[in-house]
Amino acid sequence: MKVSLLEAQMLSDLSVASGGNTAALVAGLRAYFRSGATVELSWRRRQLNQLRKMLSENESRFIQALGEDLHKAPQEAYLTEIAFLYADIEHTLKHLKRWVRPRKVSSPLLTQPANSYIQPEPLGVVLIIGAWNYPLQLLLSPLVPAIAAGNCAVVKPSELAPSISQLIAELLPRYLDHDAFACVEGAAAETSKLLEQRWDHIMYTGGARVGRIVMAAAVEHLTPVTLELGGKSPCIVADDADIELAARRIAWGKFTNAGQTCIAPDYVLCTRHTADLLVPAIQQAVTKMFGEDPQKSSDYGRIVNSRHTLRLADLLSGGDVIYGGEVDADNRYIAPTLMRCVDLEASVMQDEIFGPILPVVELDDFGKVEGFVNQREKPLALYIFTKSDSLAERILSSCSSGNACVNDCMMFMLAQDLPFGGVGASGMGCYHGEHGFKTFSHYKAVMKRKNILDVNLRYAPYSKRKFSLLRMLQK
Ligand code: NAD
Repeated sequence: MKVSLLEAQMLSDLSVASGGNTAALVAGLRAYFRSGATVELSWRRRQLNQLRKMLSENESRFIQALGEDLHKAPQEAYLTEIAFLYADIEHTLKHLKRWVRPRKVSSPLLTQPANSYIQPEPLGVVLIIGAWNYPLQLLLSPLVPAIAAGNCAVVKPSELAPSISQLIAELLPRYLDHDAFACVEGAAAETSKLLEQRWDHIMYTGGARVGRIVMAAAVEHLTPVTLELGGKSPCIVADDADIELAARRIAWGKFTNAGQTCIAPDYVLCTRHTADLLVPAIQQAVTKMFGEDPQKSSDYGRIVNSRHTLRLADLLSGGDVIYGGEVDADNRYIAPTLMRCVDLEASVMQDEIFGPILPVVELDDFGKVEGFVNQREKPLALYIFTKSDSLAERILSSCSSGNACVNDCMMFMLAQDLPFGGVGASGMGCYHGEHGFKTFSHYKAVMKRKNILDVNLRYAPYSKRKFSLLRMLQK
């Protein structure tokens, strides 16, 4: 059904006038989508350029808001959120023309003469639910491919990062086509209202508990979902690893954003011999980054709220705290912490830590490393530090994970051509670069036949002659 632009405008105005009526909002977006406006490549480019402009003209406000929500240092906020989005938009604008092109495929003899091709088409109106730990990046990075693929979208920022949520709600309608995009703020109640609506795709980033709620709601309308979840990402350090470099990279991966990163190394797996070398090296790396007292460092983050601070403080009872361990609940501070002799049944080894606590688990035999990983849920990320290619290959081929990195942590996020997503309990579906474009597109199979020839082999009445000819042509 095609709807005129005027009708779309009326419906969209209705949604604004009704003061946040979710059903009317979605109906307005859907009507606009049906007007065909979003299919135009020039429209998509314009929206992406506007999104970039929104970031560049308000960089300092975004940096300030990230400081308010998570005590992110300006440089960290820029690197892990804003610059990440610039690169995302740049990459998309550069390749979009190629991504939207129909892809020709061969047509078998029985269908000749014909042209067959795969045509990416937008899905329609999509819902993007963001998480609080990278509240800007994790909300807008899925929006980039949603726009690129020609969709309308509602974004729902996390209520746990209120400064960023308010800023996006204020700026998005000023920069993007407000007939096609909306920001709905709120917590569980507002998200539940959104989830009652019919969407053409839902992308959710967050924990598995809410992931289940999202998936159950999507079932009602047979809506496809992408779930970007988390889990415990192991960090394997072999005896032959470059310990000093590994320590620096692990410390950066673990303590950036005070450990509140879905792909942060959750725990280290190594032999006792390596643990004895690695632990002091990580301590040294932490001191180099944040000084003797990280609480005084303007570069060290805070826990998002007091509930999570107390949750993390409780985890410290699961083993020996050998470094850090200071908790200042009033200021949402938890020091970069190392633990040894952890109880594998304790919460610190059963639940995702999602904070600045790093247990070092010692194996009496390094050969058991794959068994240890594979007895647990498939992780979002797997890290292996070793100088041996064959060891890295052995572990990579025997352990399944959403993403993996050898001799570093988290850096795969910078490679736009690598898909980002979980497997099993760490999520389903993926995005980044063309993978995101595919997530928000339908790849329509099209065959265009000519009228000049109509071989009658497929039509009844059937005969032995027709049957043998058919078999010959099928060979
Ligand atoms: P969360 O699951 O509490 O919240 C995520 C979103 O769900 C928010 O927008 C929130 O408003 C909404 N929500 C909360 N309760 C809801 C309810 N009852 N019904 C409907 N919606 C609801 O976020 P969290 O669990 O604190 O986030 C941390 C988790 O997210 C960790 O497991 C982490 O690994 C994961 N994570 C994954 C990625 C990724 O890209 N894979 C990124 C960041 C965080």
